[in-house]
Amino acid sequence: MPTFRAPRGTRDLLPEDAARFLDFARVARDLTDRYGYRPIETPVFEQAAVFERGIGEVTDVVEKELFRIAPRTDEAEAWALRPEPTAGIARAYVQHGMKTWPQPVRLTTIGPMFRYDRPQAGRYRQFWQFDVEAIGDPGPAIDAEIIELGTRFYAEAGVAGVEVLVNSIGDAACRPRYLQALGRYYAGVGEALPAAERERLGRNALRLLDSKDPAMVPINAAAPRITDHLCDACSEHFAAVRAHLEALGVPHRVEASLVRGLDYYTRTAFEFYVAGRSGQQQALGGGGRYDGLIELMGGQPTPGIGFGLGLDRVALVLDEQGSEASGAGARAVDAARRPDAVVVSADPADTVGRLQVATQLRASGLAARADLGARKLGRQMEAAARDGAHFAVILGVEQADGQVQLRDLKAGTQRLVALADLGREVGRAVKQHRHGDAG
Ligand code: AMP
Repeated sequence: MPTFRAPRGTRDLLPEDAARFLDFARVARDLTDRYGYRPIETPVFEQAAVFERGIGEVTDVVEKELFRIAPRTDEAEAWALRPEPTAGIARAYVQHGMKTWPQPVRLTTIGPMFRYDRPQAGRYRQFWQFDVEAIGDPGPAIDAEIIELGTRFYAEAGVAGVEVLVNSIGDAACRPRYLQALGRYYAGVGEALPAAERERLGRNALRLLDSKDPAMVPINAAAPRITDHLCDACSEHFAAVRAHLEALGVPHRVEASLVRGLDYYTRTAFEFYVAGRSGQQQALGGGGRYDGLIELMGGQPTPGIGFGLGLDRVALVLDEQGSEASGAGARAVDAARRPDAVVVSADPADTVGRLQVATQLRASGLAARADLGARKLGRQMEAAARDGAHFAVILGVEQADGQVQLRDLKAGTQRLVALADLGREVGRAVKQHRHGDAG
């Protein structure tokens, strides 16, 4: 027999982890609802050109990391798995004529992204992002709204000490001049510049600034800063974003080397880190303004801004910070796992009766599990207690009179209840129990 394994760079989210991801999704959903962002789902694969044009061909994401789907012989189209959701959402904005909707169109999505990267800690080939986009507003106020939303997500997910780094990377008016200055600087570095970087220099000097090569760290530290080259309009925009963040009480730090890996960004760029960490692999999330993207997708010139937060990294950081800090959400998941009642039977062969009663309880809104094992009552009761169930519903001889035993597993007390009243009785008892727990 072959040994099958999850593909390299992917992992199974077993129930504990999967429940946690659902919990992140619940926090995100609740938050974006309050901020007025509406859900959108786009395909996990698109025409490869959506990413090549949108993200830019001279980027790591497209050059090296795009997960291309081998075309079938009868299909001319080249497809790729999405490395991030923004390009697909921009494609959808144009395709569905969202420019006629009230602007900005505030959208949000959560799902798996794919990058054919070398797997390592915190870097996977399939990972999850929580994403928001606001399309049709040039900012700067909406930039601050989005950044603040990001910090709120971390707070509500229970991550402590998240820091916001911001920068402006200019626009079509001022970036070309900066790129020239940057190109001249790198050319002057000479031999110290790694060969791969020298090769990219001719195509896109900006890419060298967020290179993952450690040899680039000292070189980049002395590189010209974009913030010294911004045109007046970009400079004012950036100052206004920061003023809005200050007014909202969002602490942030200007980081001149923050340029983000994707071509479509203009002006505002930002990343979220746990304070004291740095480097691409440590980023908890990031985003920026992409005022040229909708046009690249074939639409009218339309400004936009958004972020993608890596949920795998949120899970890693929560583990590092300790489970006590894992937030109200995580505790709610723990509680949800415990059944209100487990239905057990004195007759190990009676699976029908146990299923029927459990079904009846679930229909009245309770979390109930039927013990379907062909084992003695005592064993069934032990398993129910191990599950942390509040109650055991015991089917025995009293069933002939339409009654069952309702046992409070914590108090060790037990009483007869009419089967017809069971849902209401258990519901009331569970409520009292919760009251007791809280008090
Ligand atoms: P990026 O668009 O590359 O800035 O990605 C946004 C966020 O997604 C990052 O800050 C990470 O938290 C997360 N992320 C990006 N790539 C990966 C990956 N290969 N594995 C896990 N998380 C990732």
